[in-house]
Amino acid sequence: MALMSVADLQQLISTRIGEKMTLPETETAAVAQAAGRVLAADILSPIHVPEADVSAMDGYALPCAASCGDTFEIVGESAAGQPFSDGLAAGQCVRIMTGAVVPGGCAAVVMQENAALGADGRLRVLQDTPAACNIRFAGEEIRSGMTVLHKGRILRHADVMLLAALGLGRVPVYRRLRVAVLSTGNELTEAGEPLAAPGRIYDSNRPMLMSRLRDFPVETVDLKCVRDNLDDVIRVLDEAAQNHDVVMTSGGVSVGDYDYMREAVLRLGAIHHYKVAMKPGKPFVFGQMFRTWYFGLPGNPVSGFAGFDVFVKAALWQLCGACDIPQPLRFQAALTAPVAKSAGRLEMQRAVIARQADGSWTAAPCGAQDSHRILGASRANAYMILPPQAVSLNIGDQVEVQPFGSSFL
Ligand code: AMP
Ligand code: MG
Repeated sequence: MALMSVADLQQLISTRIGEKMTLPETETAAVAQAAGRVLAADILSPIHVPEADVSAMDGYALPCAASCGDTFEIVGESAAGQPFSDGLAAGQCVRIMTGAVVPGGCAAVVMQENAALGADGRLRVLQDTPAACNIRFAGEEIRSGMTVLHKGRILRHADVMLLAALGLGRVPVYRRLRVAVLSTGNELTEAGEPLAAPGRIYDSNRPMLMSRLRDFPVETVDLKCVRDNLDDVIRVLDEAAQNHDVVMTSGGVSVGDYDYMREAVLRLGAIHHYKVAMKPGKPFVFGQMFRTWYFGLPGNPVSGFAGFDVFVKAALWQLCGACDIPQPLRFQAALTAPVAKSAGRLEMQRAVIARQADGSWTAAPCGAQDSHRILGASRANAYMILPPQAVSLNIGDQVEVQPFGSSFL
């Protein structure tokens, strides 16, 4: 299988998923808990917003447009939740608060800063107030029946505000996908246990992947670790594929003697692709076992970390039913140190980016960029995206950077 460009593999993944996936079943979620879930139906507003003509300001509701110097008799009050119920005759006005219903027969609201109370108790308008001034008309923002959110929307906090304003308590969302996470490797040791022999290491990938899955509307299932043995790997994957929507593994996808993942997946299903021109993370397996999608991330921790960002995130959103799949935020930054690179693969190097006083950004590379360097990845707050054809770069050169989502507000 040939080395594929990052963009081509991203496209292949989304095309394959688009062709073969079935949308998850629908359930409902309480609106306050729905941010981060994927909407399973269009939402039509059941009401007008505003529901009635209301005042945009604290001030006075006038029966007509007014000119500077006009005076009115104050005959009552309309507060939020307590409308003025009587009629209004010419020459009269009503004290009104923000959000209060504009009484019938009123044409404009003068804000209180533009009006004064005379010694005679009458209101004097201090600034020309045209008709419709400071009135929010019924249905002006949202008309009853209007589609306010589309199916496939990844709900945001502002959407919760919108849904709540429409009086909706629960909304239809897709059920959480079941995502299994499995590590492979004879050398792996669970946290808390001693490193029993030389060469043993702690499993950092599985906790990292499970942690990253917290950002998705999924149920994460910890399948622990499987030893480097083909029969064991096949047995565990076979079982995992029976009752999960997605299986994600780390390790065992390169060309070493104990790398059994590809063979196991091939026995159970199909591999759509496994080699990508990216660094870190050249081996990245995308496949299917029965109806379960498979992502085989490389064992080197930073390779898996980057592979998750570049390929898994968008695929997961698509599988969760999302239509507006979030794009990575990218912009330019100036290097504060030279960067070594040879032409060939796209590199996702790690850096600390910082905003300068003039609004521009700098990128300080995080030392050695080998794919096992977990400390540099931890210190970094962004990737530098160095395109395949790029070669070594100097201080001051502009690079494209992509912030880590969790590092910025
Ligand atoms: P592999 O892809 O299995 O050949 O592993 C490549 C490198 O990543 C090896 O040095 C492994 O020890 C290391 N590695 C594999 N799995 C993990 C893991 N879950 N946590 C930390 N390092 C790992
Ligand atoms: Mg291994």
